[in-house]
Amino acid sequence: MEDKRKILVVEDEPDALEIFKDILSEEGFEVDGAEGGLVALERLVNAKYDLILLDIVMPDKDGISILEEIKRFPDKYGDTKVVMLTNIGGDLAVDKAMKIGASGYLLKSETEPDDLVNAVKQYLGLGA
Ligand SMILES: [Mg+2]
Repeated sequence: MEDKRKILVVEDEPDALEIFKDILSEEGFEVDGAEGGLVALERLVNAKYDLILLDIVMPDKDGISILEEIKRFPDKYGDTKVVMLTNIGGDLAVDKAMKIGASGYLLKSETEPDDLVNAVKQYLGLGA
């Protein structure tokens, strides 16, 4: 595929990070991972992504702060969709993220591999 869509998965839980990366790689996306907020910011300096899956709760730098940084630079990140990864009970943070400009969110415990792939395709405008 010539214009392979590039995705960054930001998730501090190593097993979850690997699972998300594997699912999306198998689907043919080009996938990078970041195991925390600070690494995510480094990745964002060095590469351009079509979509970021962004965990909200992370110990070093949370997803809301990362989202704020991304939205501060529309010239650089205007084409990048950000989809938050959340757990049950994260409603307030999700509301905040949506107000800041996240494209959507996925509830991790209820997202099956097919759901993830379909959601990502939908956010990228690739059809489901
Ligand atoms: Mg987390």
